[in-house]
Amino acid sequence: MSESGPQHPRIGVFGGTFDPPHIGHLVSAIDVRDRLELDTVILMVANIPWQKAGSRRISAAEDRLDMVRAAVADVPGLVAGDHEIVAGGPSYTADTLAGLQREHPEAELFTVVGADAAAGLATWERFEEVVERSTVVVVDRPGAEADPAPLPGGAEWVRIEVPHLDVSSTDLRARIIEGRPLDYLIPPGTLRVIEERDLYRDGAAEVTS
Ligand code: ATP
Ligand code: MG
Repeated sequence: MSESGPQHPRIGVFGGTFDPPHIGHLVSAIDVRDRLELDTVILMVANIPWQKAGSRRISAAEDRLDMVRAAVADVPGLVAGDHEIVAGGPSYTADTLAGLQREHPEAELFTVVGADAAAGLATWERFEEVVERSTVVVVDRPGAEADPAPLPGGAEWVRIEVPHLDVSSTDLRARIIEGRPLDYLIPPGTLRVIEERDLYRDGAAEVTS
């Protein structure tokens, strides 16, 4: 018998910059939810992604949040998370998990990362707190080792195989600048937000400082 349900919700936290969200994020989140029988996967939009700050201009948090909201609008069990934006400041998963635990004291939490992000897990701010508060879930990503090096303290993690989709927000921003097709790579609702707000086309996001 699964302990899931309203009493003991199983909640996945899939953090990212989502600049913009794409099929790789969505397929991963949907498959993790299915395989681990999670009630919800929160696509948690980073406020200030500390690992990216300074390397390029990140789109406004509200724009990224609205793009993710549009992406998950029709997908059962996926929601956009604004916790880190509401909290303000740099976004650390350890703090986000602590906040979610206060919000849902009975919940079991899962921290979902792509294999590229998994490789850097040990450098995360208060990583040991992330491991204490959640089960780490690693999804495949082309170009990254499928398995992270052993986690500090021998922390357990779970690997979920997902279709290998060689798609990144970086490539998609380049496609937008170059006027190349985006269909099926970015959900239609998200494309509408990008068009309405004329995001990315000026290439400002690629400027390095
Ligand atoms: P950027 O190119 O700007 O870094 P990204 O495509 O890597 O964007 P992020 O917002 O940085 O997207 O990633 C958020 C999370 O999603 C990370 O854990 C990352 O590993 C994972 N992820 C991103 N793209 C994929 C993909 N194609 N397959 C599996 N996981 C992915
Ligand atoms: Mg990335």
